[in-house]
Amino acid sequence: MKKIWWIIGGITLLAAGTMTTLTITNITDKLPKGKGAYLKRPLSKIKYIVVHHSAIDGYGATDYAKWHIARGWPGIGYHYVIDPDGKVNQTNSLDTVSNHVKNTNTASIGISLSGNLSKHPPTAAQMDSLVKLIKKIKKEVGNQLLVKGHGELQPTECPGKMTDMNKIRSLT
Ligand SMILES: [Zn+2]
Repeated sequence: MKKIWWIIGGITLLAAGTMTTLTITNITDKLPKGKGAYLKRPLSKIKYIVVHHSAIDGYGATDYAKWHIARGWPGIGYHYVIDPDGKVNQTNSLDTVSNHVKNTNTASIGISLSGNLSKHPPTAAQMDSLVKLIKKIKKEVGNQLLVKGHGELQPTECPGKMTDMNKIRSLT
């Protein structure tokens, strides 16, 4: 009898896990802004979803925004920031051409995982949210979008030595 309850419990957890919908908090208008404005684009120009990391543990969306403004940019460079607890923040609208990959900004959406992912891998909650977010973006913008790590497009260690891009691609 005990075994049956274990099985039922397992199935329930599994179902809950796969059915959990993704909650996205749009904080675009709440973040600090710099001078000027990013250009806009039609969504048909987008070809890539690019994964980044913050390279600093404890760094969140507001920290990124301040750092990017200090570089002279109009605002945060990423479109989404995923916290270690799996919380997804939208930080730019998808039609915004923000700065996150040199020479490929017009064609890409940037997602940053907060944390130094050269020292430790993304958390299970971050991975779960990332996979759900990429699937959602593909559904909205197009299934042909290619998923790349920043370092696959430019010479950089980003999104960290412990971020497995092949695994992310296989899940999305
Ligand atoms: Zn990056």
